[in-house]
Amino acid sequence: MIKEDLKKVRNNIPNDVTLVAVSKTKPNSDILEAYKAGQRIFGENKVQECVEKHESLPKDINWHLIGHLQTNKVKYIAPFVALIHAVDSFKLLKEINKQAKKNNRTIDCLLQFHIAQEESKFGLSFIEAQELLGLPEFVELQNVSVIGVMGMATFTENEEQVREEFQALENYFNVLKSHFFKFNDAFKTISMGMSGDYQIAIEEGSTMVRVGSSIFGNR
Ligand SMILES: *Cc1c(COP(=O)(O)O)cnc(C)c1O
Repeated sequence: MIKEDLKKVRNNIPNDVTLVAVSKTKPNSDILEAYKAGQRIFGENKVQECVEKHESLPKDINWHLIGHLQTNKVKYIAPFVALIHAVDSFKLLKEINKQAKKNNRTIDCLLQFHIAQEESKFGLSFIEAQELLGLPEFVELQNVSVIGVMGMATFTENEEQVREEFQALENYFNVLKSHFFKFNDAFKTISMGMSGDYQIAIEEGSTMVRVGSSIFGNR
């Protein structure tokens, strides 16, 4: 079933859009099934779970941390994480840089934006992001690479609203690109779209979708 559902999702996604298979709460056996079908990028939202899965599953899996990340837990994923999606403060970015340096590597990160109407969701405002990127200390962070933006739309049936929120994120990306990353080819990722809304997200410029339940079933 996972194999077939993964194939269905893949067929709905253009080749230049990256699929992150969100495996949070799902057992290793489910992940291996997707792995055998060729999937190599998996997304987890909890540090402990991500570490355990990394330890027991094939080492050529790219693990993405997609959930809110506490500063004091960065050290556990720093040795192996491929992309951190939810950077929402300079303090966090600084800690990622510190732990990346300890591990002799550079860690790719996305800035998470608050685009939904819901209060509970984490993320930066556009002004906060501009302030962060404008800090003199930002350019001193040699072991992090900010490669784009991430956001979650409101959980609603209202397609137009979801579309507008994705448009806002794409717009943020474009403005930041022209102001801060004009000569940085690495800044090219717009991580938006989940099981319920990835089609809309792709129409609005997503380059990376994070799909869980449409592949692995409900949690
Ligand atoms: C759980 C989660 C997803 C995947 O959600 P589905 O609706 O199962 O596709 C995507 N992004 C984030 C940040 C998540 O926490």
